[in-house]
Amino acid sequence: MSTASQPKNKSLASINPATGEVLRRFESDSEDQIEQKLRGASEAFLKFRLSSFSERGALMSRAAEILESDKRELSHTMTLEMGKPIRAAVQEVEKCAMACRYYSENAPGFLQDDEGKIEAARSFVRYQPLGPVLAVMPWNFPLWQVFRFAAPALMAGNVALLKHASNVPQCALAIEAVFRRAGFPDGVFQTLLVGSDRVNEIIADVRVRAVTLTGSVGAGRSVASAAGRQLKKTVLELGGSDPFIVMPSADLNRAAATAVQARTINNGQSCIAAKRFIVDRQIADRFEQRFVERMSSLKIGDPLHESTDIGPLATLEVLNLLQGQVTKTNEMGARVLLGGKRLEGAGYFFPPTVLTDIPANSPAQNDELFGPVASLFRVDGMQEAIQVANDTPFGLGSCAWTNDEKEREMFMDQIEAGMAFINGMVASDPRLPFGGVKQSGYGRELSREGIREFVNIKTVVIKESGENRSQTE
Ligand code: NAP
Repeated sequence: MSTASQPKNKSLASINPATGEVLRRFESDSEDQIEQKLRGASEAFLKFRLSSFSERGALMSRAAEILESDKRELSHTMTLEMGKPIRAAVQEVEKCAMACRYYSENAPGFLQDDEGKIEAARSFVRYQPLGPVLAVMPWNFPLWQVFRFAAPALMAGNVALLKHASNVPQCALAIEAVFRRAGFPDGVFQTLLVGSDRVNEIIADVRVRAVTLTGSVGAGRSVASAAGRQLKKTVLELGGSDPFIVMPSADLNRAAATAVQARTINNGQSCIAAKRFIVDRQIADRFEQRFVERMSSLKIGDPLHESTDIGPLATLEVLNLLQGQVTKTNEMGARVLLGGKRLEGAGYFFPPTVLTDIPANSPAQNDELFGPVASLFRVDGMQEAIQVANDTPFGLGSCAWTNDEKEREMFMDQIEAGMAFINGMVASDPRLPFGGVKQSGYGRELSREGIREFVNIKTVVIKESGENRSQTE
């Protein structure tokens, strides 16, 4: 079981993971600067909460336009800071713009008063913003993670304080600049340049009303404990070890091709990347051969090149952790079918890797492997596949490849995950809720569910004078 991770005073620095070169160092915010930002957020909220949906929607649409017009620069900043292949970085910026537009258009409908009929003359539910929300965010989708929180939260009338991961300060400042240039009033979206050692005291500040964290299980425990002490609402989007189940009726070529994409998206550093490939024994050899062949043909290299499939891992820490997990799994008895060792030379490159014969209680079985490392499991039938898939502390995404109706039903009903996809890879979409169960966290982002996380669901009852009072609560 993972424990709470210790908050750290990491130095805030942009380091190019493709070369190891330090691009820029940043000073952490001083006590005074933090105080100023908290005060700014709290004062901005008093006005912003009274703005109309159409005013906020116009600002959010403007943010979408800026994202689109600046997508080259923004994607370059991401790729330089955390190594994401540039093609994927451009798509990420476009997806942020889409989320801004989606909430600009749909927030009024999602948050309109809901009538709830009782005996009173009028009764309804009104959705109102909570106030300043602290967002503790990870480096892996440095823009998307922030926008998928900020677009709904701001459209609901909240204001945001971003504590981004210590290795992506330039992305953090670039996001703040997008909102400022879009015309959001001062204090509505601010970046705090702080290490995780400052998070607990910020959560404890009375002006912060709620917290959202996307990150590791350890960080989730730490943030949830700090918020719990203050009785503040949290949403946690944590790690995952998503299963990718393949049954005999599946289209094997399509499954193998998608499996490679699902495992190596974002250099393998995605919470919803497929990590465990659970394949029916009848087709396992054929799947394994096609999968390994395709994994070995991926092009590793400079993430700024359009043709690169796999760039470096984001930090030396991530690289060392992954190497340790792979080596240990191998020493416990797993066979390495491809890769397995970091690449020599500059940068934090780890090659596409495939492990099989995964031993019980090995890191590949129990932990999240955050890099392009696939673990193959052989099973007999859907029932055993689901059992293996559920045998993990996580429950984020999942997918199954089958054209058998009964197997599909079993999978949808029995898989312990926040998201279940059939014959396709797990992906987020602003129109559908996103989140997990078990140690993958709680609460939902995106869609109607996401925007209703950080609101006061206020019950309003209006009685005409002369109506009887109820005697019970
Ligand atoms: P991380 O180490 O947990 O860091 C995430 C954020 O939390 C960073 O801003 C970090 O700040 C902060 N943090 C770390 N420890 C903390 C603590 N004890 N108290 C308060 N804040 C703390 O995770 P990561 O390595 O950046 O990201 C990878 C993890 O995120 C993976 O487990 C991945 O699956 C998960 N993730 C989940 C989702 C989802 O939607 N479910 C999406 C993306 C990623 P510093 O950088 O300053 O330490």
